[in-house]
Amino acid sequence: MPTLDEFAARKLDALETRHLRRVLIETDRVSPVDMMRDGRRLISFCCNDYLNLSQHPDVKRAAIEATERYGVGAGASRLVTGNHPLFRELEERLARLKRTEDACVFGSGYLANLGIIPSLVGPDDLIVADELSHACLLAGAKLSGAALQVFRHNETLHLEQILQSERDRHPHALIVTDGVFSMDGDLAPLNALGEISARYDTWLMTDDAHGVGVVGGGRGSSFIEGVTHRPPLQMGTLSKAIGSYGGYLCASKAVVDLIRTRARTLIYSTGLPPGAVAASIAALDLIERDTALVSRPMSKAALFAAPHGLPTPQSCIVPIVLGAAERALAASALLEEEGFLVTAIRPPTVPAGTARLRFTFSAAHRDEDILRLASLVKTQILDG
Ligand SMILES: *Cc1c(COP(=O)(O)O)cnc(C)c1O
Repeated sequence: MPTLDEFAARKLDALETRHLRRVLIETDRVSPVDMMRDGRRLISFCCNDYLNLSQHPDVKRAAIEATERYGVGAGASRLVTGNHPLFRELEERLARLKRTEDACVFGSGYLANLGIIPSLVGPDDLIVADELSHACLLAGAKLSGAALQVFRHNETLHLEQILQSERDRHPHALIVTDGVFSMDGDLAPLNALGEISARYDTWLMTDDAHGVGVVGGGRGSSFIEGVTHRPPLQMGTLSKAIGSYGGYLCASKAVVDLIRTRARTLIYSTGLPPGAVAASIAALDLIERDTALVSRPMSKAALFAAPHGLPTPQSCIVPIVLGAAERALAASALLEEEGFLVTAIRPPTVPAGTARLRFTFSAAHRDEDILRLASLVKTQILDG
C-alpha cells in the first residue's frame, strides 16, 4: 500500500495530466465587479452575486448590527439554542416571496438538499432527476437510498418513459430538477413537469439557486410569466443573488414541520450566524422593492449574447461550450490577459467533452465592458 502522501501525490498527478487539477487562487473583491488577483485588477464575469448585494451598504449594515446584537456565531444547532429570533423573520420573508405557507432555513444550499430529500423519500422510493441537476441534488438523492433514475436534460418524454416503467414499484416518487440550470442557464419545463408529476402521482422539487432574485420578477423560476404549475417543494440558496450565505426550502406548513423535525443537516449542524441571516433579510427587502435592480442581470446577459447571434438568454448565465478542458483553460487564460475573469468550467462539474466558459452577468456590470468582452470572445475564441 502507498503511504497516504504517495497516494495523494499520485492522484494529483493523474488529474494534472488530464487538466482536471483544481487550485484555490486568492481573490480580493475590490468593487461589486472588480477583483484583485496576483496584483492585477480583473473584471469578474463569474460571480453568482447577480445583484451585487454582498457588497450593498444596507446589507452589510444589517450584518454588522446583527453581529453586534447577537454575536458572531449561533452557538448551537437551531434545535438546541441556535435559533436566534432572526430565523423566524427570514423564514416568513422567504415564504412570502415564494407564496408558500412556510419556509425552513439551512446552513447552505448544499446542506438543504442533503437534508430535505432523505426526509421525504427512502430506500423503497423512486427519485427521477434531470441529468444536469446540481451535484447536491444528486448527493441528497443518493443519501436517501431511494432508487435513482436520471432523465436526459429537459426531455420530458424520457422522464415519462421512466415513470411508466418504474412508478408502480415504489410507494413514493420524487422528481428533482434545477429551476435555472447552473452551468447552462436554461430553464426547466415546469408546466410539463408539473403535469407529469400530477399524472404519475409524484412530488416535484425545484432547486432555484440561480432563479431567485433574477427571473420571475425576483421570485424565481416558478414565477416566470406563463408558468402555471408551482412545485410544492421549492428550495434555493441565500448565497447567490441574495448575496449572503445559507439555503432554504419553501413548502407547505406540514412539509416544513416535517423537515424541521427530520432533516439531519438541520438537526446536527450549527445554525447560521446571525449576521448572515440579517443580511439575507435586508437583501430580500431590496429584491422585493427594487424591480429595476432585479431586471438588470438579464438585460446585461442579453447585451452580451446579441453580438454572437445567440438566442436571448433565459437567465443571467450564458455558457460558451468549447469541448476539451484544455481549450476552456486556454480561453480563460486569454480573457484574463485582457483583464476579464471568467473561470473555465470542467468535468466533473459539467459532462466530459463539454468544458466551457460560463459567463454570469450582474446588475453592476458596465455595458462597455460587456461589449468589449463579447467582441473578444467572438474574434479571439470562437473565430480564432
Ligand atoms: C450553488 C448551488 C447550490 C448550493 O448552494 P450553496 O448555498 O452554495 O451551498 C445548490 N444548487 C444549485 C443549483 C447551485 O447552483
